Amino acid sequence: MHKIVAVRGLYVKRGGGADYHRQSPDHWIVGRIANPMSVYPAYRDSRLLWGMDVLGSVVVEVEAEDGTVGIGVSTGGELAAWIVEHHLKRFVVGQAVVNVEQMWDQMFRATQFYGRKGLVMNAISAVDLAVWDLLGKLRQEPVYALIGGKVRDELVFYATGPRPDLAAKMGFIGGKLPLEFNGASGEEGFRGNVGLMENMRNQVPDDFWLMYDCYMSLDLPYAVRLARALLSLNLKWIEEAFIPDDYWSYRDLRKALNAKTLVTTGEHESTRYGFRLLLEMECADIIQPDVTWCGGLTELLKIADLADAHNVLTIPHGSSVYSYHFLISRPNSPFGEFLMMHPEASEIVPMFSPLLINEPVPLQGKIRLGEDPGFGVALNPNVLLERVTS
Ligand SMILES: [Mg+2]
Repeated sequence: MHKIVAVRGLYVKRGGGADYHRQSPDHWIVGRIANPMSVYPAYRDSRLLWGMDVLGSVVVEVEAEDGTVGIGVSTGGELAAWIVEHHLKRFVVGQAVVNVEQMWDQMFRATQFYGRKGLVMNAISAVDLAVWDLLGKLRQEPVYALIGGKVRDELVFYATGPRPDLAAKMGFIGGKLPLEFNGASGEEGFRGNVGLMENMRNQVPDDFWLMYDCYMSLDLPYAVRLARALLSLNLKWIEEAFIPDDYWSYRDLRKALNAKTLVTTGEHESTRYGFRLLLEMECADIIQPDVTWCGGLTELLKIADLADAHNVLTIPHGSSVYSYHFLISRPNSPFGEFLMMHPEASEIVPMFSPLLINEPVPLQGKIRLGEDPGFGVALNPNVLLERVTS
């Protein structure tokens, strides 16, 4: 039984790939996207104005006694790396690599007094993904083989970004646009939101999915009105309309739209307990946990089992290979999300670039996973990682 002998909490100060919000000013992802701070005019024009890029990436390395190293990543930078080095590490060093459940449970219980969601859960997720990667490497098997094997030969994707028209030509099944305006921009903003979607619908085939990602920016009356105004454009879903804690608005939106437009959310939700609320309150038609934020693969499997029993699809938020291995092994996850990280969304760029190497990318909107052990990726030696020292 292989034992873990070392855990390292590393970080990239700004950006770095797992935190992909540190981009040049002309990148679409830092452009005008409606968000919770859009109610304040001074912060409306860019998510960088209120600090969406402050965290950076955290990278966890977990080393077995034979020198094999597993890696896991998340958003969280130096702070998450500090939590790994000063707190979580003690529950991992000395453990048998196979004991993923015990390590997870101890990290979760020991952080109840300041954790549960957010940064702490990002750190736990990165450790958990590193352990799964290590287990796969030691067994010389891909992670999907450790969690049940393939239920499909290839993954199909929709693309998230400002150019669904280009995504349609690249072979994706749909395109998810970031919403530009929320209620604080009044009627003009509302017309802008409807007009942008009309414009896109005119440029893509009728059966190409179009969705709006609202990034927690709306209130219930606006979300209902927007979805209804877009009914004739066949909007497939309206995503993350409200802040994550407002379960009641999600429930009421879903009731109001009555399956004519699907309601999706969950990228900023954590653990089986958070998703239990979403599912039992019938808040969403599709849940979108982020495997690098919700508690790692160990927790995602539990969240997805719960969703299966509620007849709700689990389509993870972004997260590259960490989502792909999950997607290919789950009957109720028939497609995935690909985040277009090219500044103009006009070319395919690996999602966590430049942090990882060997990241598979969609070809004609599809990805096949090979037999490489673990998650099949390595750290890019050109990305400078710093280590928490004290
Ligand atoms: Mg989203």
